[in-house]
Amino acid sequence: MLSAARLMAAWSLDRSTPPHWRLARLVRAMDDTRSCGDDTLGDRNRRLLRLHCALSRGPLEACVKCSVCGVDNELTVPVKVILETPATPRDARVRLRLGRSMGIYRLPRMTDIEAAAESDDVPAAVLERCRVEGRAGPLHEHAMLRLGRRFEVIDPLSNIVVNMTCSGCGTALAASVEIAALVAHEIDAIVEGLYRDIDCLASAYGWSEQSILALPAERRQRYVALRDAAPPRTRL
Ligand SMILES: [Zn+2]
Repeated sequence: MLSAARLMAAWSLDRSTPPHWRLARLVRAMDDTRSCGDDTLGDRNRRLLRLHCALSRGPLEACVKCSVCGVDNELTVPVKVILETPATPRDARVRLRLGRSMGIYRLPRMTDIEAAAESDDVPAAVLERCRVEGRAGPLHEHAMLRLGRRFEVIDPLSNIVVNMTCSGCGTALAASVEIAALVAHEIDAIVEGLYRDIDCLASAYGWSEQSILALPAERRQRYVALRDAAPPRTRL
């Protein structure tokens, strides 16, 4: 279980950094670095959903805009059902016919994506790292799309799609849910809450940040509730 102090130390509130990178730092601080790097995109989404379960008692909610009528639809991500999806086979390979030749690719892992992050063409650089057999060099756009679709079949949690009906116009929607963005948003709220608790209790009792974070959550929240209910002690 992640402690409040470890969460605050490992979490950056810099929202200009993409959620995946902020979460990668947190995941590395929590788990074994090597196994985290081995995550496929589906493994990473699974890990993030488990993180959500560990940090929050509430549902994971998303907002889906209807492309037809523009209504924002609220969606509760079916976390339990998603986590019951069988694990991705570690040695899965995709065979892809490329004109007269054949290419064999393994699933991209987080280490591939991190290593290719600075490339001019990130998808091409990732796929080149995943090439097991076949012709070197960038793939045609159509071949990349075919490969991407095959990856999604083998690693279904890499792109989590929830089917729903628009509450405004009844259109059937297939919403691709960005787990990283949702979990990052949730952790932002938790960490902002911890800062508020520290501010409240440090101002009231003079306790250090370290000692406030060491309190069990229930006791910390009880003290905060007592302070919020207390009448002002000064006229100024
Ligand atoms: Zn609609």
